[in-house]
Amino acid sequence: MQHFPCPFCGLRNETEFHFAVEAGHSRPEPAERVSDAEWAAYLYANKSPKGESREVWLHLSCGEYFILSRDTVTRAVLGSVTLPGVTR
Ligand SMILES: [Zn+2]
Repeated sequence: MQHFPCPFCGLRNETEFHFAVEAGHSRPEPAERVSDAEWAAYLYANKSPKGESREVWLHLSCGEYFILSRDTVTRAVLGSVTLPGVTR
């Protein structure tokens, strides 16, 4: 069992969180000009780095998205920050 640090609520059980997307993985725009290949790459081509990774997670209890830094090899949690421009 792991504990993740929500920047708004503090340490919570990992079961309270849901993975959203790799940080910096932006949806291609505008939608009417996105090719099938670009859309498929957006949906399925993730970097999935071995080692330190920055990911957007949702804390289901408070409903806030944030960036979680973790090591995908050791499973160590390196920190968390709010999304840019988000205050509460
Ligand atoms: Zn929270």
